[in-house]
Amino acid sequence: MKQQEADVLIVGGGLAGLSAAIDLSVQGKSVLLFEPKSYPRHKVCGEYISNEVLPYLSKLGIDPFTLGAVEISNFSWTHPKGKAIQAKLPLGGFGISRFTLEQAMFQRALAVGVQPIKASAENIESITNGVQVKSSDGNNYTARAGIAAYGKRSVLDKKLAREFISKKANYVAAKWHAQGAFDPSLVALHNFEGGYCGVSRVEEGLINFCFIASYKVFKNYRDLPKFMDSVLRSNPHLKELMDETEMVFEKPLSIAQISFKDKPPVEGKWIMCGDSAGLIHPLCGNGMSMAIRSAEIACEELMDCFSELQDHAQALQNYRSRWKGEFAKRLRMGRIASGIFSSDTGSGLAMDVVRYVPGILPFFIKQTHGKVDKSLAYEV
Ligand SMILES: Cc1cc2nc3c(=O)[nH]c(=O)nc-3n(C[C@H](O)[C@H](O)[C@H](O)COP(=O)(O)OP(=O)(O)OC[C@H]3O[C@@H](n4cnc5c(N)ncnc54)[C@H](O)[C@@H]3O)c2cc1C
Repeated sequence: MKQQEADVLIVGGGLAGLSAAIDLSVQGKSVLLFEPKSYPRHKVCGEYISNEVLPYLSKLGIDPFTLGAVEISNFSWTHPKGKAIQAKLPLGGFGISRFTLEQAMFQRALAVGVQPIKASAENIESITNGVQVKSSDGNNYTARAGIAAYGKRSVLDKKLAREFISKKANYVAAKWHAQGAFDPSLVALHNFEGGYCGVSRVEEGLINFCFIASYKVFKNYRDLPKFMDSVLRSNPHLKELMDETEMVFEKPLSIAQISFKDKPPVEGKWIMCGDSAGLIHPLCGNGMSMAIRSAEIACEELMDCFSELQDHAQALQNYRSRWKGEFAKRLRMGRIASGIFSSDTGSGLAMDVVRYVPGILPFFIKQTHGKVDKSLAYEV
């Protein structure tokens, strides 16, 4: 068994873990990044990212547009009965696949000196002088600080006895890429019984389809193709799009047991980042921005700790309160939106209200998003 030390251990190489790893490494800290899977890889995700992350991504040396990202400025929302509305997105965003973005961020992490450990963290612990990871490679790793960015659900949640893991996780989701015609400036949400499907463009002329549905409705079919035929195609707008585009995946990529329950943003001495700290309902299109922004906050607090401006306990306390201040309201609004979207009647009524008071929609979208800080003039 090997014993290795670093300044920071980061568990999980998704957007949150990669952002934090690059940031801390650029600032001179030694970083070990635990990620068992290889890059590039597809992930179930709507792949629409809000523009609010652009300044920080730029600071990290990542320009999504050089990777082929597509600018998105319009939003449309359709109902199974055929009603549809369109709106301008207050902040706008861009479409890029996780396949491409995470691969580029991983390459950047390697370039700035992050040391990857291609193994799972089997235990994450708080010890007297910091944190410890026992990893599937049989080795032990210690550091002064730790960031847990292992995503929405992991065996680590059970080991940490986190409350949400014992509760029901009631959603299933799937995604696929397709070829065909689709307005590149648009992100579309097509409602169906028990869920919705997001559609937008990503790089290389591809269209990303990603749906999420309540298990209560899905369990009547259990089989993905049957569910897609009977339930997704019940929305005439989505049916037309599915009929007129060609899936380029062999079959959709799917996941289950998705939970939107509250989680603590700090566990012992571990800073929880991204979905490990809380997952916003995907219809808000803000989970990736929250993952990236939470990494930024974590790095600010940890760097103040490394510079002896505060102790580690203070860094954890500040992270906890900043996380709640920035994200708790977004999560609440996401839950309200998902409640409205989960029934045909609710979403039909909400659509009628938006028709009469169009300002409500951009107002609501703003409540689930952060702000672009125009004072940050970062260059890649
Ligand atoms: C259906 C759906 C659609 C979505 N659509 C959008 C959207 O359009 N826009 C948006 O902004 N957000 C969207 N989201 C949310 C977004 O996908 C997440 O918020 C984002 O992926 C969070 O990134 P992360 O880095 O926290 O986690 P992840 O991307 O899940 O990364 C976690 C990483 O940790 C690794 N890991 C897990 N366990 C361990 C371990 N024990 N040791 C080491 N590594 C480990 C995993 O392999 C993984 O790579 C969607 C989510 C869902 C479910």
